[in-house]
Amino acid sequence: MATKDQILKALISVTAPGLKEDIVSDGLVSDIIIDGGKVVFSITVPKALHGDPTALQKAAEREVLALDGVETALVALTAEAEPVVSTEPPKLKQRKERPLGPDMRPKSAAIPGIKHILAVASGKGGVGKSTTSANLALALSGLGLKVGLLDADIYGPSLPRLFGMVDDRPELKEDVLYAMERYGIKVMSMGFLMEEENPVIWRGPMIVSALMQLLKEVAWGELDVLVLDMPPGTGDTQLTLAQQVPVAGAVIVSTPQDLALIDARKGLKMFQNVDVPILGIIENMSTFICPHCGERSDIFGHGGAQEESAKLGVPFLGGIPLHMDIRKYSDAGTPVVMAEPDGPHAKIFETIALKVAAQLNPVEDED
Ligand code: ADP
Repeated sequence: MATKDQILKALISVTAPGLKEDIVSDGLVSDIIIDGGKVVFSITVPKALHGDPTALQKAAEREVLALDGVETALVALTAEAEPVVSTEPPKLKQRKERPLGPDMRPKSAAIPGIKHILAVASGKGGVGKSTTSANLALALSGLGLKVGLLDADIYGPSLPRLFGMVDDRPELKEDVLYAMERYGIKVMSMGFLMEEENPVIWRGPMIVSALMQLLKEVAWGELDVLVLDMPPGTGDTQLTLAQQVPVAGAVIVSTPQDLALIDARKGLKMFQNVDVPILGIIENMSTFICPHCGERSDIFGHGGAQEESAKLGVPFLGGIPLHMDIRKYSDAGTPVVMAEPDGPHAKIFETIALKVAAQLNPVEDED
């Protein structure tokens, strides 16, 4: 299998009018992720580029696919100033058979138009699952994928606040409820359908059936990925959802605290028991960066999730710092990935999104 160095060397030949030298020398290539025969990275499209950025993408793909052992290449484009939502989603060049182990996933998403459902879960509430889901959804969209976000946290829906849509209501036309659109992605939340002052006192089965309805009966349009922000915890509701929804993979959000990790382990087990592949663990509030002096302190300890992931044999997707900006932007209705697309936090989410996208195998066409 080609190494990162070999890949970078091959990419030196990729250039275009407007670049100083080539995509590697100009520092436009992101961290390269190699997963078996699959290679994933992104190219930052500089403002100075003349012409079609997808030509760069295609040339880079060609170079990488020509290397020994490379079976698929996912090259995403990200913009220097704002995320590019390209009209053509990047396609994984796909092998017919899966290389490792039996594929226990449903062969196709039971929901028409939705290629993959990605569940974002946590063992308990308050670990930043919704913040992470929102930013991950936006980062996936920044890679050029068509993305939807369903806030399934019925007890404390946070999407309306996170996306600055508290007073918005979805359109109902001829008995069809349409997903709303914000920041280039499709969104839906129980929060849009209930009064804030009336807390939900539904029991589990009602919650599951309401959520299944939101998944199946809402007009989402064509989506590459639907990010499902699961209700926190690992109770019956979550288990039933994990069983009934054709989930392509799950991501677990955890804080570095041991207790949270114990909870996170329950989350892992829940998905493993129903044969949903775990795409990895994200450590949120991983480290504290002082907004005044920039110094980092590990308030909750640091690296716990990384060690735990290694022990559990699950990919570690990345650590997101505890930072005032992340909370501030969320509260103001524009998640940090959107508010500061060039900032350090957006970069972290982009890397996580690449690692997640690398693991989503496209559903094969039936014909
Ligand atoms: P959950 O969905 O797990 O209950 P939320 O995403 O609602 O958690 O986050 C809980 C609170 O913590 C929110 O106020 C959110 O803005 C804040 N928060 C989450 N992650 C971070 C972070 N990395 N840095 C700063 N604040 C964060």
